[in-house]
Amino acid sequence: MFSDAFVGLVCTDCGASLAADDAEPAAIAGAGPCPDCGAPRRPEYDLDGVDPDAVRAGPRAWDRDTVLPFEADSALSAAEGGTPSVDAPRLADELGLGGVAIKDEARNPTGSVLDRGLAVAVTAADASGAELVACASPGNAGQSMAAYAGQVDLRSYAFVPTRSPFSNKAMVNVHGGEMKVVPGRLGDAVNALTEELQSDYVDLGAFASPFRHDGLKTVAYELLADRDWDAPDAVVLPAGTGELVVGVVDGLRECVELGLIDDLPPVYAVQADGCAPIAAAWQAGRDDTEPWETPDTIVGELEVADPPGGPLALAAIRETGGEALTVEDPDALESAVAVASTETVEVGLAGGVAAAGLWALAEDGTLGSEDEAVVLNTEAATKAPDVLRSHLMGQGV
Ligand SMILES: [Zn+2]
Repeated sequence: MFSDAFVGLVCTDCGASLAADDAEPAAIAGAGPCPDCGAPRRPEYDLDGVDPDAVRAGPRAWDRDTVLPFEADSALSAAEGGTPSVDAPRLADELGLGGVAIKDEARNPTGSVLDRGLAVAVTAADASGAELVACASPGNAGQSMAAYAGQVDLRSYAFVPTRSPFSNKAMVNVHGGEMKVVPGRLGDAVNALTEELQSDYVDLGAFASPFRHDGLKTVAYELLADRDWDAPDAVVLPAGTGELVVGVVDGLRECVELGLIDDLPPVYAVQADGCAPIAAAWQAGRDDTEPWETPDTIVGELEVADPPGGPLALAAIRETGGEALTVEDPDALESAVAVASTETVEVGLAGGVAAAGLWALAEDGTLGSEDEAVVLNTEAATKAPDVLRSHLMGQGV
């Protein structure tokens, strides 16, 4: 079941480890946060025995199972990953950059990058013998969880806030998942899950599962493979829970350790300025995030007021020499529209935040004519096309 390089789980804070050799496989697969200190745990790997050629090849996420916890033939999959890096020459010209590629994560099975993480996390929960998985989510994670749980007829329960897009809510049910729509915002859905779900369940929330952010590592491998292992000058991605930042930097670090690239490229994490606890902590020079008191952004997927991966994301950004920054909602929507109208790629709202971040980095001179950037579109525009259309209507279109 476990891959050869998988050593076990380690706490990201106190360092306590749970070795695969010392515990029942089901106990590892069903593990949550650290029982000693409550911090998130992460899978640990012995990369010494990993053949770099084995992770160079293969288009799909599970083709790189040598650096994932589970072997591909025991994993739940719907051919996630293998998304294209779409060359965006018109965008590069407009921004005065050496090159821009859009890693289009909208082309995953449920239209978001989270499929990479939930495929691994639901695989783990199923291997643990769980009868019920659950998570509180702005929308995409709940949809993805339901989608993978359906493969093994595992009960899943998504707690989503009222503002979650209709497409997410509809598809949770279409995939066979149960759902509670909680009045309010994500924090209310988180509270409702812990207070109201009475049955035993495995929490597949970001960083509640040690496996979810680990699955996101495969984005890093792929964006480098797409460039023939020539690291870009910038990786620009949106940040909400912090899991994508952490997963991508974990993956990039492994690629350095495996000798696939020489140095970590700077990772730029972009948040909507109406809910930016990670960027605010970054700008204040803090190591930990403080809960955002009045979250208010049109980009619901990123409206995470108290990110469970705050300290880990901040440390990850710092390690790469990147930064955390904010953009305004109208700029995020404008950027999504601009990319769709010139480069064909249908960028979702969260991807629009990343694209607007790229704009900001070009305008303030952080990136210039020699720089090649990879920007992540993390979700499909068709999850909330009404918001993009409304933005146009606000401009009289
Ligand atoms: Zn701990």
